[in-house]
Amino acid sequence: MATNRSGLVCSMCGTHDSSANPVVKVLEGLNLCTDCIAYIDNARDTQLKRQPAKAKNKKEGNKIPKPKEIKEFLDKYVIGQDEAKKYLSVAVYNHYKRINQSDDDEVDIEKSNIILVGPTGTGKTLLAKTIARLLDVPFTIVDATVLTEAGYVGEDIESLLTRLLQTCDYDVEKAERGIVFIDEIDKIARKSDNPSITRDVSGEGVQQGLLKLLEGSVVLVPPNGGRKHPEQKMIAVNTKNILFICGGAFDGIERKIASRLNTHVVGYGHDESGRKKKRENLMKYVLPMDLKSFGLIPEIIGRLPILTSLDPLDREALRRILTEPKNSIIGQYKKLFELDGVKLEFTEEALDLIVDKAIEYKLGARGLRSIVETIMVDSMFEVPSLKKKEFKIDVDYVKEQLERAHFEKTSIKD
Ligand code: ADP
Repeated sequence: MATNRSGLVCSMCGTHDSSANPVVKVLEGLNLCTDCIAYIDNARDTQLKRQPAKAKNKKEGNKIPKPKEIKEFLDKYVIGQDEAKKYLSVAVYNHYKRINQSDDDEVDIEKSNIILVGPTGTGKTLLAKTIARLLDVPFTIVDATVLTEAGYVGEDIESLLTRLLQTCDYDVEKAERGIVFIDEIDKIARKSDNPSITRDVSGEGVQQGLLKLLEGSVVLVPPNGGRKHPEQKMIAVNTKNILFICGGAFDGIERKIASRLNTHVVGYGHDESGRKKKRENLMKYVLPMDLKSFGLIPEIIGRLPILTSLDPLDREALRRILTEPKNSIIGQYKKLFELDGVKLEFTEEALDLIVDKAIEYKLGARGLRSIVETIMVDSMFEVPSLKKKEFKIDVDYVKEQLERAHFEKTSIKD
């Protein structure tokens, strides 16, 4: 327990006087700590600014697209992942309906943060980003691994809201309706074999810290991120209406799902169907209890009530990703050439070979871009100076370029 420097105790939060958070006597019988003074300052400023905003919010509310429209928009940018898209569309629609609920409504709709479980590079971040683009709300991506408990190295948990504030020029009211994507949430899972429970720097402590953000409360955010320090003026942000979307690969969770499914299957005599499930994508059977076995604390799981999974990308999906999304990789290169007055074409076989290489080197969807970039370097260099009106990429050209770049040697093959 920290000692009390002057014996003063903050009348608002009960903090003891310390050099990190000094407590001063404001009036007879009223002592306040620095954090609470900053909070009052901000709450007053925000309240004064906020008066005319209500009407604007109401109008904005009418513009919230219906779940089907949200899914149709997602379809333009993200290939497959229909189940996840459906869950997301409904959750986002309800979330913004809830925000626009009038204050005197008796039924209080609870916030529905979302957790997306699926292998890396299958579109979790892309889904969240695309939703934010549709709704035109502040959006930020943060990596759970950079967060640690206050007092240890790393950034304070509240600093993840700093980035959200920065995306909207510190407009607190706008930020309070934004979306935060927390990536790699699985990396802060509690490790059951952790030898020291009291110094679980990256695990349970961070989860506890995240809890208060997820559930909706007023937190003091350092304007420049990083770690808080006593003289800094904090910005009070209410997280009640911020939608949190968490994503994680949860490597190895299939084993937990499999063992859970098998315990159910055994006893009913359906051994065969149990084994069949193993061969399919087990991730789609994920339940909150699997996240718990993986090491997320029940309180966090409770604050992420919408749980859905993403499918691994098969050959067909990868092939579609190359050309179909609205800003597909191939589409972007075609545009670049078009700006130089050149029509760029890829043969079907060339596209198939690019997909083959991404699969062969286990590079997934992210690898498609690096392969195409490797192939295109030479032509991007030469073509603008040639007097060509057309440029065709075929299988031989792809092979030649990959060999030239020693692609096979430079890619990491696991
Ligand atoms: P993660 O699941 O690890 O968050 P990302 O969403 O960051 O993966 O995907 C990485 C890149 O791969 C994206 O920028 C996008 O170009 C591509 N990609 C992945 N999945 C899809 C998908 N389902 N549809 C279209 N592009 C995808």
